Amino acid sequence: MASTYPGPSSVSDLLPQAGTSPRSDTTQSYSGPVARYRIVCTTTKYLHPHEHIVKVEAIADGGSARQTFKVKKVRRMLGGDDQFYTCDPGGNEAEVKKFRCRLEGCDVKTIRSKRDATTANNLDNMPDG
Ligand SMILES: [Zn+2]
Repeated sequence: MASTYPGPSSVSDLLPQAGTSPRSDTTQSYSGPVARYRIVCTTTKYLHPHEHIVKVEAIADGGSARQTFKVKKVRRMLGGDDQFYTCDPGGNEAEVKKFRCRLEGCDVKTIRSKRDATTANNLDNMPDG
C-alpha cells in the first residue's frame, strides 16, 4: 500500500542544460573585420611643385554617411587593416594605395589608385569635394 508515486524525479532531465550552447570565443589573433571605404570625391591643394590630394570623402561599406579623411589619416588606416577604393559608374573598383610622389623633385606622401585603374575610377579623376 505504500505510495509509489514516482514524483518529478527526472525533472532535471527536462530542463534545458545550461552552458551547452556553443560559444566561439574570440581569439587574441582576431583583428576585427576589414573596413572598406569607397572614396567618392577628393580635395586637392597646390603643394609645390604641383597639386596633390589632401582630403577625401568616403562612404564606409554598408553605410551611407560621407566621412572626410585627411590623406595622412587614410595612409595610417591603409597601414592597418582598412581599405580604400574607388568605383566607376559601371561598378569597376580600383584599390587605393599609399604612394610617395617623386615627380619633379616632389617628395609628398600621398595616395593613389592602383595602376590598373581606368580613367573613370582613377583617384585623380574623382570630383572635387
Ligand atoms: Zn608630387
